[in-house]
Amino acid sequence: DLIISDVNMPRCDGLQFVKRLREIPNAEFVPVIFLSARISVGQQEEGFIAGADNYICKPIERSQRPIFLAMIKSLLIKSAAQKNNLCELSKDKLTGLPRREDFFCALSKHISANERGSNVQLSVALLDLDFFKQVNDTHGHLVGDKILQGFSEVLSSLRESDFIFRYGGEEFAVLFVNADAKQAQTALERLRSVNKEYRHEKDLPITFSGGVFEVPKDAVSSQAEAYVEKADKALYSAKKAGRDRVQVYHPTQLQEVS
Ligand code: GH3
Ligand code: MG
Ligand code: MG
Repeated sequence: DLIISDVNMPRCDGLQFVKRLREIPNAEFVPVIFLSARISVGQQEEGFIAGADNYICKPIERSQRPIFLAMIKSLLIKSAAQKNNLCELSKDKLTGLPRREDFFCALSKHISANERGSNVQLSVALLDLDFFKQVNDTHGHLVGDKILQGFSEVLSSLRESDFIFRYGGEEFAVLFVNADAKQAQTALERLRSVNKEYRHEKDLPITFSGGVFEVPKDAVSSQAEAYVEKADKALYSAKKAGRDRVQVYHPTQLQEVS
């Protein structure tokens, strides 16, 4: 929620640390306070230029403590409001999830961070509920809607670093951060079990199919849509192979996972 950092540190000093932190999507709004013995005007100026929100000179006198604590409180309130605003702008009304455009935005941002040297393995997945039209036709749209809400609850069992989105209708997207195709596949296998255990509306047996694509190390953000298309190809193949399964995109063959 908030970082208090020294400036003088071995290997990566506070200034470098904040510059790098600001390049990471989702970390750009985390408040950072420098607490340092480098107290010259120039040094404090450098701290703000690097991206700090405040700069406190060490040591903090006992009598000054309330000011320091009040400043922390104020920064926390502001950053929480900022986070809320960002999400409310983009949430899908039915499921409360961010939407397709947020997915592309997040994927592009993560790829851009890699282009600048972040070196984080990314994978993308598209999930599509099986025979969902039939559910609507037989039980009505309201039941269909409830099932979509239930499925988004199922999706929330993924790790916090796996970002989930409503891609469209009964399709969902997952951006896996720090996961290769195999790890994404394992996570989706677990998700299939969670979904099977979940009591959907009217106890209907809902299944999904999924396609996974491991984003290459040398990916470029302008190609984000092309990467998602590969996940879509794998999804199409999972549907053709009989549904209720996850497939990983492979350049030469589509490897069946389950
Ligand atoms: P497949 O296994 O091939 O994916 O078959 P499907 O029936 O799921 O696929 P299709 O694309 O033919 O149908 C998707 C259905 O999803 C059609 C539409 O009525 C339903 N749908 C899309 N968005 C919503 C929604 O917000 N609420 C409800 N209730 N239904 C939706
Ligand atoms: Mg569909
Ligand atoms: Mg479907």
